Amino acid sequence: MYTELKKIISQSNNIVFFGGAGVSTESGIPDFRSVDGLYSQRYKYPPETMVSYSFFKSHPEEFYDFYVNKMIFLDAKPNPAHIKLAELEKEGKVKAVITQNIDGLHQAAGSKNVLELHGSVHRNYCMKCGKFYDVNFMVESKGIPKCQCGGTVKPDVVLYEESLNSDILEKSIMYIEKADVLIVGGTSLIVYPAAGLINYFNGSKLILINKSSTQMDYKADLVIKDSIGKVFEYL
Ligand code: NAD
Repeated sequence: MYTELKKIISQSNNIVFFGGAGVSTESGIPDFRSVDGLYSQRYKYPPETMVSYSFFKSHPEEFYDFYVNKMIFLDAKPNPAHIKLAELEKEGKVKAVITQNIDGLHQAAGSKNVLELHGSVHRNYCMKCGKFYDVNFMVESKGIPKCQCGGTVKPDVVLYEESLNSDILEKSIMYIEKADVLIVGGTSLIVYPAAGLINYFNGSKLILINKSSTQMDYKADLVIKDSIGKVFEYL
């Protein structure tokens, strides 16, 4: 199966990668739905509730406590999947990396054309005056992060109930529609509208790399049920 994937990659110069939280688990960042993911840990509220816009508004202190402690991993380093994708972009094979992740690890590995569907922990804005703050400011803030102007600083992360940035969504659709090969990895394909993007693919090879089965497995030309870092290390 790995050899088949290697062959498909060697024959295409128009590959798009679409990934999720599973791409970063081998960098030490828990996903949501694996057995050791955030959904298996016990909290007062379900994680999905804690990263929703209504929770952010109604329980800001608990939101920031969860967000800073469970969603920001400043020590995480790119793993072989991030690194290989950046190399394939440099070689002109990968045209875009579309990610549901907010950790910035694709950019840390050197990928340039990264479409962050759900935003990034590295960008934060004052909700009152728009002033930009980096991730260190969020980590160092005690309680609710406040701007000099008194406004609350909100991460540029798409919370549940918020809509995706339409420019990024349109660009992602455009890359997927034009791609010859689409590699989908480390995503349960449960979170919409991101998961629906796969339906725009008309190219020749759809490849799914995920530890567990997904509802889209039947559509794929190649399904690899393995750790994505391990797979990319081989390529
Ligand atoms: P998910 O948690 O729903 O699913 C992750 C999938 O990846 C699972 O199917 C799991 O079996 C698979 N997986 C885990 N480790 C893997 C590995 N090493 N190799 C291959 N497959 C692996 O994640 P999702 O589909 O991305 O949706 C969850 C949402 O949570 C997304 O919106 C994302 O923004 C957010 N999130 C992001 C991060 C991050 O930025 N690193 C972390 C947690 C959650």
